[in-house]
Amino acid sequence: MKKLDTRLMHPRDQITMIIDKVYRSGLTTTSGGNISVIDENGDIWVTPSAIDKGSLRASDIICVRKDGTIEGRHKPSSEYPFHKAIYEARPDIKAVVHAHPPALVSFSIVRQIPDTNIIPQAKNICGPIGYATYELPGSEILGDVIAKEFEKGFNAVIMENHGTVVGGSDLGDAFQRFETLEFCGRTIIYGSTIGSPKYLSDDQIAEFEEQIPRLLPEMKEVEHPSDERAIREEIKKIVHRACEQGLMISSYGTVSVRWRDNDFLITPTNVARWDIQNEDIVQIKDGKREPGKIPSRSTWLHQEIYKRNPHVNSVILTQTPYLMAYSVSAEKLDVRTIPESWIFLQDVPNVPFGSHFAGEETILNLLSENTPAVIIENDSVLVTGDKLLGTFDRLEVAEFSAKSLTMGASLGKLVPINPDQVEELRKKFLS
Ligand SMILES: [Zn+2]
Repeated sequence: MKKLDTRLMHPRDQITMIIDKVYRSGLTTTSGGNISVIDENGDIWVTPSAIDKGSLRASDIICVRKDGTIEGRHKPSSEYPFHKAIYEARPDIKAVVHAHPPALVSFSIVRQIPDTNIIPQAKNICGPIGYATYELPGSEILGDVIAKEFEKGFNAVIMENHGTVVGGSDLGDAFQRFETLEFCGRTIIYGSTIGSPKYLSDDQIAEFEEQIPRLLPEMKEVEHPSDERAIREEIKKIVHRACEQGLMISSYGTVSVRWRDNDFLITPTNVARWDIQNEDIVQIKDGKREPGKIPSRSTWLHQEIYKRNPHVNSVILTQTPYLMAYSVSAEKLDVRTIPESWIFLQDVPNVPFGSHFAGEETILNLLSENTPAVIIENDSVLVTGDKLLGTFDRLEVAEFSAKSLTMGASLGKLVPINPDQVEELRKKFLS
């Protein structure tokens, strides 16, 4: 998976970039959380102790040389001992992310490990999850119990009454594991708030992994006229915006926009979503793909949606925290909450896992002007629309509705807008 450029970017810059993402995503407090990278000399670059995570600069990062010399203008993180212990236990690990993200802390304080079979990509990204018993923060013994879990081969560990720590082959890899595991935690918690979460079998996950697209043939020559380049820019911006708004995580999500006739542009597979650039986006023309690029694994579905729905000009498929509660619990999302939700969505049916695989007709038969979105069980939500910004807005409305319903679940039962009121909305806004 392509991620931040770990070959040419200095560890200091990688760390500041990722800690900033962790903080802005609400996955660490100002004081909690620390990140490190070990370089080819065996020097460990680590975030400083007690410095504001919201405004960390590259010059704040500390280097602990292999011989133990400390360079930098602050003290290294107080949790540095367990970072060091992990690198000693596992020479293949080159980056470590530790924090106290809310959902994983929920698991750690009830002493459970989240089951990553809740969504299809998480089992492979996170691997099996270890569990480290409670020890005093910053102590050598905490380092020992964590290192023992990593020695067993785990790359992600729940720390009892504390948080989580993950390792990776580089910092992008570690961040993605961290983000995906926290997302699993949130999905299970929100799913349990409105119903009871169901999990994928290992066979279903294997089937998902095999969906790496039956590759479309490559086109011989590719042209990038200015209207095509404008769409690349538009897709890149909406993907970044979705990541920033908590409507997409690095490891999952596809956006496409119709170009001419049934030709379209679509996001690639295996590129961290927050890092997608214009040149990563793939042109699909006359059923052929741009040479040398691998489009999203759901390309077939996007192609068929454009062929069969002339009113659809953009499609977003993604995992958002509250819509995923409906996806994993198979509860029906009732959009008759407020006028905005009904006007934007009308009906959001659930479809079984696998309905978006190549050759499956279920979603294609359901989508219409009155059914612009579907929830795919244990997978994602798919939203269609005309202009891309409008489709993104529709996704936001759906996620807000799911959030209100989830938050309201503890207050009482939904009293929906009644049929007469719905009819009134239809007359005023949809005809
Ligand atoms: Zn901690």
